[in-house]
Amino acid sequence: DAQIYLSVRVARLGARYILLLAEDRTESYRLDEVRRDFVANISHELKTPIGAVGLLAEALESASDDPVQVRRFAKRLTTESERLARITQEIIELSRLQAADALHNPDLVDIDHVIASAIDQNRVAADAQAIQLVGGGDKGATVYGDESLLITAVHNLIANAIQYSSGNSRVGVGVTNRDGTVEIAVTDQGVGIPEDELDRVFERFFRVDPARSRHTGGSGLGLSIVKHVVQNHGGDIRVWSQPGYGSTFTIRLPQAAQTGTRVGAQK
Ligand code: ADP
Repeated sequence: DAQIYLSVRVARLGARYILLLAEDRTESYRLDEVRRDFVANISHELKTPIGAVGLLAEALESASDDPVQVRRFAKRLTTESERLARITQEIIELSRLQAADALHNPDLVDIDHVIASAIDQNRVAADAQAIQLVGGGDKGATVYGDESLLITAVHNLIANAIQYSSGNSRVGVGVTNRDGTVEIAVTDQGVGIPEDELDRVFERFFRVDPARSRHTGGSGLGLSIVKHVVQNHGGDIRVWSQPGYGSTFTIRLPQAAQTGTRVGAQK
């Protein structure tokens, strides 16, 4: 059911001929559609937290005589506004990533540093749930790209692994470095993802269990951001999962040339 969108212009050439100019506008039409959907999604997603902030502010006002209530509402107000700030930040990040097909000024990025930073950022959350967070595997890999975007990508995978696991389990971040490809695998022993939802987890705003995600504060944008970062780096991402046993998300990125020069860099 493929559709093509053409813009057609007609010009008369003298008395006998007309000139038809047809331009294939399918791609720009598709991009417009993606943009329209995105805006509709955003409005929908923001309605709930914005509504909650309004209600909490009202509740706070009418509870002003009761310090216990005031403290309770104020705390929830802080949580909701933090959540709103996080979703907004992720929306901005995702729309930036969607607008760019590739990176403009890639740097030589040290994967060991990316992994160490992403693990560091998640240490407190892992400890809080008694989750053992360990890195391992090959050292010394480098790729051309944007270090902070790569840290964000690995961070999001680890944060999910922790978020969708129960306590006393293990989250592993393993690196394999071979045949010109760096593979970063984040493995958890958490709730897993049903097979028929596996394809959909990279869609923006998609959540397997909206109730649980809402509870944990998830926006449904994390994996979508990861996918765009990986694609902008010329790589891909896969997921393996078994409900009840756990999940593994694997990012593959093209390695930088070993010569230490910038030959082969995307410019
Ligand atoms: P969220 O902010 O809701 O975590 P993501 O885009 O990061 O959004 O993930 C989309 C959905 O995929 C999540 O809501 C969750 O249902 C599922 N998911 C992601 N990572 C995992 C994981 N490691 N284990 C189980 N489910 C996961």
